[in-house]
Amino acid sequence: MALTKEQASKIKQQLLQQVDKLPQENKEQIKQQISQLNEKELEEFLKQNKIQIPQGQTQPKQTQCIFCSIIKNETPNYKIAENKKAIAILEINPLTKGHSIIIPIKHTTLEKIPKSALTLAQKIAKKIKTKLKPEDIKIETSSFQGHAIINVIPFYKNVPPKKTKASEKELKKLQSILETKKRSPRKPKEIISPKKLQEINFRIP
Ligand SMILES: [Zn+2]
Repeated sequence: MALTKEQASKIKQQLLQQVDKLPQENKEQIKQQISQLNEKELEEFLKQNKIQIPQGQTQPKQTQCIFCSIIKNETPNYKIAENKKAIAILEINPLTKGHSIIIPIKHTTLEKIPKSALTLAQKIAKKIKTKLKPEDIKIETSSFQGHAIINVIPFYKNVPPKKTKASEKELKKLQSILETKKRSPRKPKEIISPKKLQEINFRIP
């Protein structure tokens, strides 16, 4: 990939815009560094940061792991539960109704799936069993882009599993059925202190 001067300057502009959106404190410094790169250095910079420019285009595209992007909430998803080590979301292209995936928060291989991710998978399986009443449920691991996940797949009588894109409406409905709501700490009843009461009274003409 050899960049022309024109391409390089377009890419730089795009990068600068993206850096602007970053929360980093040192972004002015990063921006300055980017602006000073020549074509060759820019290419190296893109390579180091794993940013791929599709041929003939100048739009930088971060090649990020899809599951990491879901964990960071950068990809829209339908979360139904979470614990410290993993989150559970609905598969948007489910094999069957209720097909869920458990994603370890840390980008990790199959051998290193945290135990609590499996616990979460079992919890979700139980919930699916009670709420959706499948005939059987399978829990199986798979890996994509080097990020291991756990699939929780319910099977129903006379419904052959088939990967189908679920509609937003279906997913939202399922989410409300399967979601484990975080218990919010009980708020103490608001008691108006006598002093506050005085203030209020004071305002009444
Ligand atoms: Zn990942």
